[in-house]
Amino acid sequence: MPTIDPAKLEQVTRDVFVARGVPAGDAGWIATLLVRANLRGHDSHGVIRIPHYVRAMKAGEVNPAPHITVESETPTIALIDGDQGFGQVVARRGITLAVEKATAQGMSAVTLKRTNHIGRLADYAEMAASQGLIGMLWVNAPMALNVAPWGGAGRRLGTNPHAIAVPGPNGSVAMSLDFATSVIAEGKLKVKFNRGEPVAPGIMLNGAGQPSTDPREFYADPPGSLLTVGGHKGYGLSLAVEILGGILSGTGVARATPGPVQNGTLMVCLDPGRFLPPADFHAQVEALFAFARSAPLAAGAKEILIPGEPEARTERERRAHGIPVDDETWRQIAKCAAEVDVSA
Ligand code: NAD
Repeated sequence: MPTIDPAKLEQVTRDVFVARGVPAGDAGWIATLLVRANLRGHDSHGVIRIPHYVRAMKAGEVNPAPHITVESETPTIALIDGDQGFGQVVARRGITLAVEKATAQGMSAVTLKRTNHIGRLADYAEMAASQGLIGMLWVNAPMALNVAPWGGAGRRLGTNPHAIAVPGPNGSVAMSLDFATSVIAEGKLKVKFNRGEPVAPGIMLNGAGQPSTDPREFYADPPGSLLTVGGHKGYGLSLAVEILGGILSGTGVARATPGPVQNGTLMVCLDPGRFLPPADFHAQVEALFAFARSAPLAAGAKEILIPGEPEARTERERRAHGIPVDDETWRQIAKCAAEVDVSA
C-alpha cells in the first residue's frame, strides 16, 4: 500500500480536476477537502472519490463551472440553487452565507439543492465553529439509496449524515461530531471492498435480507443494504434528515427513480453569544467535557474522547508520516491522472 505525501496527493487531485475543466480555485478547494478527509482518517471521503467524480463529470452529472444562485433570501434564511456543481464548491458558498447571516442576526438557515456530493459535513460545520458559531448540517441523497429502514430489508434511505461543530475560544473548534445515520458510511464499505476485507457483523444485510459481513454482497445483484445506527433511533434520525435536508431544500426525499447524486442540504448556524456571554459558554463546554472525561474507564477502554479528537490525532500522525492509500484506489487515481496527462 503506497504512503503518499499530503501535498503531492493534493496537487495530483487538483491537476486532474483542472485538466477536466474545473476552475483552478474550485479544483484546489475540492482537492483540499478530499485530502483533508484522508488526513482526518475518513478515507471513505478522501481521494477514493476521484474516480467517482471523474465518472460523474464524464456522464454530465456534475457541472464543472456552475452558476450558483441564491433563489430567495431573508436576513436569516437563504435557498441556494447549486446548478449541479461540485458539492464542495456549492457548500462553501452556502456556509459562507450562513456564517454571514448568523453573525449579523444571531442565527441562520441555508439550504442547498441541485448540488453534487458535498463530502464530509464536518468541514462546513467547523468553518462556522471557527467563526464562533455553532454549525449544524443535515444532508440527504434521495437517489443514492443504500440503507434499509428499521425492520426492512431493502434500500429505501441514503446514509443521511448530520453534523454539529461547537466553537471554542479564539477561533478553535471545541467539538466536531459528524456521522452517517447508517452504522457506517457507504464509502467505508467501499474501502473494505477495495481492500478485499470483510466488515464487522451488524453493519449490513445481503440481497436476501440476511446479515452479512461480505462487502461483495452489498454490491451484488440483488444488492445488499446497510443497517441504521442504533436501530430504530438511527432510522428515525434518518427520516428527520430526509425532511430537513431533502424537503426544505427542494431536493426532495428518497425515491426509487435513479439519478445523479444530489445532496439536499440544510445548514443552521447559531451564535451562542446571543444567548450568554461567550466566555461563560466556553467555560461551561469545557466543564462538561472535563466531567465526561472524569468518569472511571470502562473495562478495556484506554481513555474518554471528545468528538473531533480522533480526527485531530489522525491528522497529526498522517501529516508526519503520509497518507496510506490502498493499491486499488491508487491504481484508479493513477488511471484518472493518466487519462488527462497528469503525472501521479
Ligand atoms: P464515524 O462513524 O467514523 O463517526 C465519526 C464521528 O464520531 C466523529 O465526529 C468522531 O470524532 C466521533 N468519534 C469517533 N470515535 C469517537 C470516540 N471514541 N469518542 C468520541 N467521539 C468519537 O463516521 P461515519 O458515519 O463513518 O461518517 C464518515 C463521514 O462520512 C462523515 O464525515 C460524514 O459527513 C460523511 N458522509 C457524507 C455523506 C454525503 O452524502 N455527503 C453521506 C454519508 C456520510
